[in-house]
Order: sequence, then structure tokens, then C-alpha cells
Amino acid sequence: MLMVTAMHELAIIQSVVDMVVERTAGRQVATVHITVGQLSGVVPDAMQFCYEIVTAGTPLVGSSLAIDATAGSGHCRTCDEDFALDRLILLCPCGSADVQIVTGQELLVTSVEMVAETCV
Ligand SMILES: [Zn+2]
Repeated sequence: MLMVTAMHELAIIQSVVDMVVERTAGRQVATVHITVGQLSGVVPDAMQFCYEIVTAGTPLVGSSLAIDATAGSGHCRTCDEDFALDRLILLCPCGSADVQIVTGQELLVTSVEMVAETCV
């Protein structure tokens, strides 16, 4: 089970790293900021671990991964209320299951900080 979870994070981190390497064209990266929704099913600790493995041997080696976790929220189509979702149990407090996830499933690279280059 742990293995399966780590494989999931590894695949996500691999695509994040590939994309950042492509966009930064070999420049030195200090920190990659990502936003991860709490309902996205990934484990931040596992992502940190995978980041170190995946960045080894790429221009991103030695850079850090900053994870910003966003809370989940849903909207109920029955009572028209918004409410917090912290697990993947799509039930409104009113008892309706006709719920739409508003936030919490996102997984975005929000910014990349470069190592300051010395200008002459
Ligand atoms: Zn409701």
C-alpha cells in the first residue's frame, strides 16, 4: 500500500520536475512552489522524498520543494451551501450527497524561484 502511494507521488513529481526543467532551460532553481489540495490524495512527506530522488542528476538538484496545502471545500446542490471537506466523503451536513468539489483537488506549480544571478 505504501509502495503504491509512493509510486503515485513519484509520477506526479516526475512530471513537475520535467516541466520545471523545460521551462527554466538549465538555469539554477532555488525553490519550486506547488499547491496541493488536501483532497488530491497525495502525501506531502512522500512528495518531498520523491523530489529528492527525481531531481538527482537534473539541473534541479539541490533545490527545494515548497508545498502549500489547500483545504478542501464543497458546494451542495441540494441546500446551496458551501462547506469544508477534509476527506473524500462527499456528504453535505444537510445529508445530501449531491455535492460538487470546489477546492482541494488542485495540484499546481505556483512559482519557481531562481538562484539570484550575479550581474556584472
Ligand atoms: Zn446540503
